[in-house]
Amino acid sequence: MTRRTKKVLMTGRFGTRYGATLRKRVKTIELKSRSKFRCPICRVKAVKRKSSGIWECQKCGHVMTGGAWVLETAEGKRSKRILRK
Ligand SMILES: [Zn+2]
Repeated sequence: MTRRTKKVLMTGRFGTRYGATLRKRVKTIELKSRSKFRCPICRVKAVKRKSSGIWECQKCGHVMTGGAWVLETAEGKRSKRILRK
């Protein structure tokens, strides 16, 4: 497991490497991945990221696939549109 530091949040594991801008970018993405998203089945904001690309609703237990970091990516929306045709 990775060690955690409270002050710089999850980017603390990088130490001073990779530059401040890059670490900040990682932080925003990782915070996003930890936040909850709206479930398309029960419409409750209870979908949590299980692992990369796999999301589970804590309310109804529905498991769905999505983006690696956010539930619905711009890429995913595009492919859904294509599938519907
Ligand atoms: Zn649900």
